[in-house]
Amino acid sequence: MTPLAIKKEIIAICLKMESLGINQGTSGNISYRYNDGLFITPSGIAYDALKPKDIPFVAFGAKDEYSGEHPPSSELDFHYAILKDNPDINCVLHNHSTYATAMAVCGMEIPAHHYMVGVAGGKVIPCAPYATYGTEELSANVIETLRGYNACLLANHGVITTADSLKKALWLAVEVENLAKGYILAKQIGEPNIISDKEMDIILEKFNNYGLK
Ligand code: 13P
Ligand code: ZN
Repeated sequence: MTPLAIKKEIIAICLKMESLGINQGTSGNISYRYNDGLFITPSGIAYDALKPKDIPFVAFGAKDEYSGEHPPSSELDFHYAILKDNPDINCVLHNHSTYATAMAVCGMEIPAHHYMVGVAGGKVIPCAPYATYGTEELSANVIETLRGYNACLLANHGVITTADSLKKALWLAVEVENLAKGYILAKQIGEPNIISDKEMDIILEKFNNYGLK
């Protein structure tokens, strides 16, 4: 994809996050691998005002510099660390969706109440320990928590998903929100039955050959 096509897709997915109700205003951010670096949403600019020229580029090995008119997202650290060290990941998406964030506010991971929890790569969707937004400490917590997973919650903050395309990263973010919503609703009416480790092993094996993984 050309840089312009990547920037347009970043903006389209930002607007889609907004229309789907999983983010709004300036909450969240998106990055996309390009050559030896990444395009990332600028810090603090509302999605509906974003133009392609507003999307900065950061090269691997030069994290403190950017090309473009606006500085990169305050969460550049974790986007940069994830993309630099995982060549199979092309896109990182961060949002503050309501139900997933409610679980993260309680410091909870999403347990295997539904087999779709396995789409994040494991038997739970883990929650990274709290650190101030936009810090290297938060980035370190995220890297540690994401080992073996393609999504995690951030305590008292939100959600991160990773994928080889932005469409998949968005799909996963919507799925994480649905799973959190389902768990919270189930808790209102009873005590959710959690799928056993043994059954989740079977699910994870099946997911190796399943669609949008
Ligand atoms: P930015 O506008 O700097 O990307 O910050 C939004 C956010 O969600 C911080 O965690
Ligand atoms: Zn955030």
